[in-house]
Amino acid sequence: MQTAREKLTRIAVKVNGKACNQPPQNKLAAVIERFFYRHQNKLVLVHAAMFCLFLGLILIPLLTPPPPESANIFSNFTLFAQFLLWGVWFPLVFASVLLTGRSWCGLFCPMGAASEWTTRIGMGFKIPGWLKWEGTPIFSFLVVTILGQTVDVRDQATAIAEVFGGMLILALLVGFFYGKQTKRAWCRHVCPIGLLLGMFSRLGIVQFSPKLPRAGGDQYTEKGMCPTMISINHKQESRHCIECFRCVNPAAKGGLFLRFRKLGEEIIHIRTNSPSMGEVWFIFLSTGIALGGFLWLILPSYQTFRQNMGEWFINHGWDGIGNSGPAWLMSVHPEWRQAYNWLDFITIIGFMLGSMLFTCSLLSICTLASSYLAGKLGADGTLKKRFIELGYQFAPVAMISIIIGLGDTLFTTLHASALKGALLMGSIFWSVYLGNRLLSKQGVQGTKRGLALIPGFLGSLLIGLAWWPAVVGINFSLLEQYRQHLIILS
Ligand code: SF4
Ligand code: SF4
Repeated sequence: MQTAREKLTRIAVKVNGKACNQPPQNKLAAVIERFFYRHQNKLVLVHAAMFCLFLGLILIPLLTPPPPESANIFSNFTLFAQFLLWGVWFPLVFASVLLTGRSWCGLFCPMGAASEWTTRIGMGFKIPGWLKWEGTPIFSFLVVTILGQTVDVRDQATAIAEVFGGMLILALLVGFFYGKQTKRAWCRHVCPIGLLLGMFSRLGIVQFSPKLPRAGGDQYTEKGMCPTMISINHKQESRHCIECFRCVNPAAKGGLFLRFRKLGEEIIHIRTNSPSMGEVWFIFLSTGIALGGFLWLILPSYQTFRQNMGEWFINHGWDGIGNSGPAWLMSVHPEWRQAYNWLDFITIIGFMLGSMLFTCSLLSICTLASSYLAGKLGADGTLKKRFIELGYQFAPVAMISIIIGLGDTLFTTLHASALKGALLMGSIFWSVYLGNRLLSKQGVQGTKRGLALIPGFLGSLLIGLAWWPAVVGINFSLLEQYRQHLIILS
């Protein structure tokens, strides 16, 4: 009788001509693979439909009157569109990465598909070095996150159109100028959403592995069929794979095959999956900026900071600080009793950047302490190598931070404070578990790992505590007081 393991569809693979122990593919993965291989040519219809939906969601609210106070998501299109974007799309896309990888990118995303369409008809310039720089998507993520706060992208239809419409135009332009044929320079090198999804896909269960893997680790190539410039036979890490299924053919000897793995497996084995210092910094920075973007709305310390800054500017003759700036830079909506001025603009950005630097420093110190202790307790590698590997332990906490911060609309609609608390607690435990496994891979034995784990545990715990106001709920009376304060100022 066949064992469960024998029922798995085996993939015959070789590394540089020699047989290798490639993990087997299970039946569900084989079925999914065949389905997408057969229906790949229909994806263009999905992308076209998503493109129309996307344009509708960001443009129709601009053409309709502002929703009255009594309106709800079922009676008003603008509120419905906002709910779809922030209450459904954002949290679900991010949460789905764990189970379906970057399926959003390859199967549904209208922005990536549109960028590829413009590449097909575009100039085909070589992708320049500054675009390929590892910091480019981090920079674009920070700019979009901060601009989203200052223009109030969660509540204002014009801000949604500006931020998402602006990203779409940039994606079209990058596609038009850079890359050849079916390449997606925007998706690989610039898209802030892709950067997040890519990082979190490392935690997920979906992996595309080569049937004929070559030694040497992940490599970048603009010559192959992959839209995100992955050298197919060298592929190991999952972060750049957008799951387009173009390199998948169940009947072929080469290409990639789909398989499922354990949650967090790629992070545990990060040393063989292209660990990157840039990605570790991004984990730290994105956690901090998301936290800052949430906390400025609710913390009295932000009000104190703003008050002190305002007095300082007035005392130095900067009276214009109380005026509103251009509406594309800051939220100026007197009809909604909300009009930010330059003081708000500066202090919101200052608070978010301060939170980012503080969080980044805290997590860096914790990771450095863990790496140092691990070295003293028998870990292999250099301090820098251990730092990069152990930095990945914070990926679960970072992911849940962003889901809680940006998906607040969904949690509020579902009255799911307990779920937020459970997710946050779960992410802390998961981070500690990953830290333990990473230390084990570094060679720290048995109970010694407990000592090297402490700094990482403290880092995760402090991030969890900082997010606690998000779990217990926003103090809306404080937010309303702030809005009243803005009206008085303006
Ligand atoms: S990387 Fe960005 S633009 Fe490209 S498919 Fe993913 S979300 Fe869409
Ligand atoms: S590796 Fe294959 S599935 Fe992944 S993005 Fe490249 S071509 Fe698509």
